[in-house]
Amino acid sequence: MSFWFDEDGLNEECGVFGIFNHPDAAELTYYGMHALQHRGQESAGICVSDEGVLNVRRGMGLVTEALNKQTLETLPGCHAIGHVRYTTAGASIITNAQPLRFRYTGGQVAIAHNGNLVNAQKLRGDLERRGSIFQTDSDTEVISHLMAQSGLSVEKALQTALVAIEGAYALVLLTPDKLIVAQDPRGFRPLCLGQIGQNCWVVASESCAFNVIDAEFVRDLHQGEMLVIDEQGPHSTRFAPELPRTLCSFEYIYFARPDSDLGGVSVHLARKQLGAKLFQESPAEADIVIGVPDSGLSTAIGYAEASGLPYEVGMIKNRYVGRTFIQPNQMMRRQGVKMKLSVVRQVIKGKRVVLIDDSIVRGNTCGRIVRLLREAGAKEIHMRISAPPIRHSCVYGIDTPTRSELIAAQHSVEEISKEIDADSLAFISEQGMIEAIGREDSAPNRGHCLACFNGSYPTPTYGFGELQ
Ligand code: SF4
Repeated sequence: MSFWFDEDGLNEECGVFGIFNHPDAAELTYYGMHALQHRGQESAGICVSDEGVLNVRRGMGLVTEALNKQTLETLPGCHAIGHVRYTTAGASIITNAQPLRFRYTGGQVAIAHNGNLVNAQKLRGDLERRGSIFQTDSDTEVISHLMAQSGLSVEKALQTALVAIEGAYALVLLTPDKLIVAQDPRGFRPLCLGQIGQNCWVVASESCAFNVIDAEFVRDLHQGEMLVIDEQGPHSTRFAPELPRTLCSFEYIYFARPDSDLGGVSVHLARKQLGAKLFQESPAEADIVIGVPDSGLSTAIGYAEASGLPYEVGMIKNRYVGRTFIQPNQMMRRQGVKMKLSVVRQVIKGKRVVLIDDSIVRGNTCGRIVRLLREAGAKEIHMRISAPPIRHSCVYGIDTPTRSELIAAQHSVEEISKEIDADSLAFISEQGMIEAIGREDSAPNRGHCLACFNGSYPTPTYGFGELQ
């Protein structure tokens, strides 16, 4: 689980949204971005096409901080894209906020990206040597320069760029009269298509963004697919052969909202199944099962149902932490986790507790949570983790520390258990996780990326990140 002040966790990079042919495009994009807020809280932006002109508004912070009613009123138009950002490549500054808008011989384009390009540095060096001048240090701008240097029409230019880039990407692009979306050839990041009525089309990182605007889910995008949406509707083309899918496992375990469906699987139900599998693999003698909010809750319900133990609300999360929250001083930092999580003492006191969390990264946060439970009088604490041990850094857009900081890369499960002061600790197995999520995919590992668990990266990594 991630905490904004101790950076001990995994963080998603971004969420993207797009809408074609709706009179309230800006407003619906705002609502869609709000539903995707969990994917990025550092900046938010929107671009609307109005009578042949692309207008962009971007700001730092949450969607509600970056954009307001007055801003939306300045954005008439029927087609729009939106973006919420968490930084993994490039600094957290307004110039890196998306959508990025540019103009070249092929016309005006705005682009928003979720993921990470593993060969961005190499491509950027090549482009700079050929005369490109970059405005930002985000890897997304590489795509715009590749398109501009091709000099081709937008669709052909994008195809040329997509063939050159490597890594994880779910892209949405807007031109004055088209919405274009593309997903990388392995489909690391989720991206889906929806519909409102007959003629309005929407795309989003997760289907939870459709619920809020009454859009019907149509389908997930295929890996290596480019979808061009214009007045005639969506047209699907391929820019790369369809490789076996490697969807990020952490989308199910932690990132995606429980009310989203990914690859035909409900995220909430997948988490419950992960909990049931954890019980099968690692039962514990205990009195109650609790989860670390939020992603641990569905998993804890699954563990409780499978074990017959009562599920309890043992911890409450304070949700009201935004960009304007006063940063904690050194003393409060030491208090750490208490500012975000509070224990329900009467539930915990004198109990043997099964504590469910989604992952252990550096180990600091779960150590603090165990301490909180002990202070509240827990008799025993049996920690169960719904991801396998993270032993490698992610190069596909999830913010993970280097291997030297990953506790599971440096220590055995027994050593970690001792370090965090748990009475027992167990992680789900890779196979158990895959079976529990239950995706129907004929690809190896049922179409999951497992690189941060076993170091088997589906693409070349170009030395991106410190992998040793
Ligand atoms: S390496 Fe891990 S976090 Fe990164 S995409 Fe693969 S499964 Fe997700």
